[in-house]
Amino acid sequence: MKEIPKKNHDPRPKSGQRFSYHKSGNIRVLQKPQLPNPNKIITTPKQSAYSSDRPQKNANRASRGSYQYNNSKGNRRPKRESEGTPNKPYIQKNKVSTIPPPDKGVIRIIPLGGVEEIGKNMTAIEIGDDIIVVDAGMQFKTEDTPGIDYIIPNTTYLEERKDKIRAMIVTHGHLDHIGGIPLVMSRIGNPPLYSRNLSILVMRKRQEEFPHLPALNAQVIETNSVIYAGNIRVRFFGVTHTMPDSLGIVIETPYGSIITPGDFKLDQIDGVVSEEEEKEYAFLDKEKVLLLMTDSTNIENEGFSLPEVRVHEGLDKVIRQGTGRIIISAFASSITRLMKIVEIAESLGKKVVLDGRSLKSNMEICEQAGIFKPKKGTIIPVENVDNYPPNKVLIMMTGAQGEEFAALGRAANKTHKKFTIRSGDTIILSSSIVPGNEIAVQHLKDNLSRHGVKIISYRTSEEYIHATGHGNQEDIKWLHRKTHPKFFIPIHGWHSMLVKHKEVAMALGMSIDNIIVPDNGSIIEIIENGNKMILRKEKAASGPMMVDGFSIGDEQDVVIRDRVMLAQDGMFVLIATIDSSTGKLRKSPDIISRGFIYLKENQELLHQVRLIIKKTIEDETRGLHPIDFDTIKTSLGDNISKFLFQKTAKRPLVIPVLLSI
Ligand SMILES: [Zn+2]
Ligand SMILES: [Zn+2]
Repeated sequence: MKEIPKKNHDPRPKSGQRFSYHKSGNIRVLQKPQLPNPNKIITTPKQSAYSSDRPQKNANRASRGSYQYNNSKGNRRPKRESEGTPNKPYIQKNKVSTIPPPDKGVIRIIPLGGVEEIGKNMTAIEIGDDIIVVDAGMQFKTEDTPGIDYIIPNTTYLEERKDKIRAMIVTHGHLDHIGGIPLVMSRIGNPPLYSRNLSILVMRKRQEEFPHLPALNAQVIETNSVIYAGNIRVRFFGVTHTMPDSLGIVIETPYGSIITPGDFKLDQIDGVVSEEEEKEYAFLDKEKVLLLMTDSTNIENEGFSLPEVRVHEGLDKVIRQGTGRIIISAFASSITRLMKIVEIAESLGKKVVLDGRSLKSNMEICEQAGIFKPKKGTIIPVENVDNYPPNKVLIMMTGAQGEEFAALGRAANKTHKKFTIRSGDTIILSSSIVPGNEIAVQHLKDNLSRHGVKIISYRTSEEYIHATGHGNQEDIKWLHRKTHPKFFIPIHGWHSMLVKHKEVAMALGMSIDNIIVPDNGSIIEIIENGNKMILRKEKAASGPMMVDGFSIGDEQDVVIRDRVMLAQDGMFVLIATIDSSTGKLRKSPDIISRGFIYLKENQELLHQVRLIIKKTIEDETRGLHPIDFDTIKTSLGDNISKFLFQKTAKRPLVIPVLLSI
């Protein structure tokens, strides 16, 4: 593994005294919000032995007809307020908010997503009658949400104030900033959407996947544009990122501006910031900055980020020296790099194949935007690859994260219909491994290795072949110095990263009282004529909105919990036919088991289950007229779950089905 040299050089003169954080002002924490959030239903693993935690008969779960006995893996009993864990948030149907509007002269900031995770970034800024929303990202599913397509930020607060939303401003076209746009925009009244050209093209392309939703009301802006969102004046500046057309935002308030650069890293070499970059940020020398909100993704990495130009040099070398055909896989979102790779290929007289949907689509958008101009004939279809000698083709593929069905994954396991990897090919994995994908990437590399290829990856390469798109600690410090804000809210990152970012700001001289580390939904206000920043005790709804096929939102939690249970212990269905006149079983119950136990080898257990069913039904119907089917179902669920747990130590989803004749 190559160590990226730490560069602690501060490009600013040592006498740069201009930088000092305003020391005045206090944060008054009205009341730290207590978990559980009233907008979440939270499930808690139960510690008690199940026998002492028998669920109530006729609890509301009875009507759903499926059961999971209270246990350490899941719990269907409605929660008491006192029970909570931040780890398993599930949201409840939205309640009408009781949060009052901000007072006159107050600036309200609500990070609605992206501050308890990396992904689904969205922040609302509310001043008087105007709300501006910055970004609406998405997050991919996690282990806790099987089967979910993706997650978007909670829009409840905004939905309830649709008529005040004057603008959605998008910093750049990455999915953690635009992935939620189609669904979020339709939920918040489709306000005007502002961003630069490429980002808007990316959003329009994504919008095509949602033909049932209204078209975006998009307006292209440039770095020198000024817009009015209601009474709020907004300006912009350009930032360096792996995505061209990335935009920083300046929101003017009576007490100074709010600066949020979106994702950025500095265009610098060995800590010396380029002239162009200095120019973009030069306005900050005169700007009175009230609040800085900035990215914490790489706050834990010391030094400056590796400049992308170093990666371009490294790739150029590796491609030049590579033997056989060159196959490169990078993030389809690393647009700048993808364009550079095509340029390198052209300089070596190589034809280029673009294989993979997101890759093709992104490059098409760049061509449309006029920033990607391959020579005529450079790009060839994958099926023509064998028409050229091996050293005259470069194949770009999706799938560096080990995605099974991406182009590279299919090529590696020989299921690619149009492309075969050959011994002697060089494969360059020009990306880091996203945490959680380690095993998948290992499988990919193993599969590739079986083809007798040479693999060059980020970890083992002699050359730089990947760099992050986010600024490291020194890039971030540079921005703090440059903006010299009065108040600071760290955003974009896991909680521990935001806390680290707070520490970095404090080390630069900022008072702890002028920093608030937010949670999703935290309502932060700058009050007293811009002199004090507080955290209100109320919280905006922040539970994740899960998108699952065509459905979205609030009631998915029950579905997800069932999926988790099914995945863990399977299901057990019992079908009993009851004679409604006598209350007796008409025939031996049918039993279906999936993912639980193999029925054929457990005849004795089945026999006992049937006896319990018979006895339960007789007990519950004795003397009753008419028969209460709900009560029977509840008892059957309880008794069978308990019995199965005693016999197998497993807790399948038990589903009793009663037929009456
Ligand atoms: Zn980005
Ligand atoms: Zn981002």
